[in-house]
Amino acid sequence: MSKRLVIIGGGAAGFFCAVNAARLNPSLKVTIVEKTSKLLAKVRVSGGGRCNVTHACFEIPALTKKYPRGTNFLKKTFHQFYTSSCIKWFEDRGVRLKTEADGRMFSITDTSQTIIDCFLHEANKYGVEILMNKEVKGLSPSNDQWSLSFADNATISSNYVCVACGGYPKSSMFSWLIEVGHSIEEPVPSLFTFNIPGNPITALMGVVAEKASVKIAGSKLSDEGPLLITHWGMSGPAILKLSAWGARELADKNYHFTIHVNWITDCNEQSLREQWQNIRNNHSGQKIGNRNPFNLPNRLWIYLLNTSGISEDIRWADLPGKEQNKLIKNLVAQEFAVKGKTTFKEEFVTCGGIKLSEVDANTMESKLAPNLFFAGETMDVDGVTGGFNFQHAWTSAWIAAKTIGEKSERE
Ligand SMILES: Cc1cc2nc3c(=O)[nH]c(=O)nc-3n(C[C@H](O)[C@H](O)[C@H](O)COP(=O)(O)OP(=O)(O)OC[C@H]3O[C@@H](n4cnc5c(N)ncnc54)[C@H](O)[C@@H]3O)c2cc1C
Repeated sequence: MSKRLVIIGGGAAGFFCAVNAARLNPSLKVTIVEKTSKLLAKVRVSGGGRCNVTHACFEIPALTKKYPRGTNFLKKTFHQFYTSSCIKWFEDRGVRLKTEADGRMFSITDTSQTIIDCFLHEANKYGVEILMNKEVKGLSPSNDQWSLSFADNATISSNYVCVACGGYPKSSMFSWLIEVGHSIEEPVPSLFTFNIPGNPITALMGVVAEKASVKIAGSKLSDEGPLLITHWGMSGPAILKLSAWGARELADKNYHFTIHVNWITDCNEQSLREQWQNIRNNHSGQKIGNRNPFNLPNRLWIYLLNTSGISEDIRWADLPGKEQNKLIKNLVAQEFAVKGKTTFKEEFVTCGGIKLSEVDANTMESKLAPNLFFAGETMDVDGVTGGFNFQHAWTSAWIAAKTIGEKSERE
């Protein structure tokens, strides 16, 4: 009698597991159960509708550093299937990827529909059954099989189950997995922007400081990169990376904390003070508002002068000591009070999920319950922006598919 695999979730990880398992063992009956009426919903909207499939990072140690949670686990998984494997997998199916200047990789068609079509075609080719509006509510072992119960009171038995249900915002939503014996790292959001309500900086919305660094006061958290000023506060890679690395700590602070922004990352206060006299002498006759020696966007420079109490018309030579001190401080460590967060519209993920210590990274099988597998964001793994979250989905799903494919042929 043929064996059955049920995959919970019709998202990126669910489809990747389904199509690979069905291809690797054609006698396996593979079913995806999806709670909504939409398949691959996040793939569709991801990367602004273009699906940022992966990131052009081909060194495993460098790749694993892009994940605030899961680094050690991923060191094991990426050895089996990583960026190059993913590019080849898509290429073998006629989907060519291209790399953008920042390393993000997309289909050359620039639409996520290409990725969706590829998965639907593979699912059809290998006879994957897809059941929609099927929300799993319970999972329990029964006669050497798994019994899945659904919100519509239906049940299905299966030899193997792969949980690819993505991240949940609350641990209580994992109750059906907790009942199986698994434990959950409390979920909190990752990849969000900082709200700085009422601060005059927000008038500069749209301005980008290309090389800023941001430090969270009273913690070791800091990051650097382009910083985008928005009408509600701050965003851009420097902020998003910081939100990912600090996801848990910032949730503990209820998203109320102080940041110090260095607008000119190349300098700290001491090195800037050492250069200051030269800067002043070089521009002594010029009006300070007209001469911005740090290559900052002009609106930002004027704002920094204003917040340091300096008139734009004063000459560099006439800059009073007190205001000069204030400007130096504002350039390298300007303080802002963050009060709340806004979820990044382009990409957000959940920090937390199934505890990694309970999953075998070599097989994706549960260490607690045989023939139960995990793939994707449902585990306590999340990456920074740029395609890393999908790469984890592909990798974990591929490993689960391979293990199930081999196991089902053997058993
Ligand atoms: C707007 C947005 C844009 C993004 N852009 C990118 C990007 O460009 N690059 C990148 O790397 N990452 C991106 N991400 C993150 C990425 O989409 C996720 O990390 C990835 O989709 C996770 O895949 P997954 O299959 O594990 O989970 P999901 O894609 O969330 O899929 C899980 C599926 O399971 C279903 N499900 C849940 N519970 C049940 C249940 N009990 N029974 C049945 N079905 C269930 C859900 O309805 C869903 O369809 C983005 C995220 C968002 C929100």
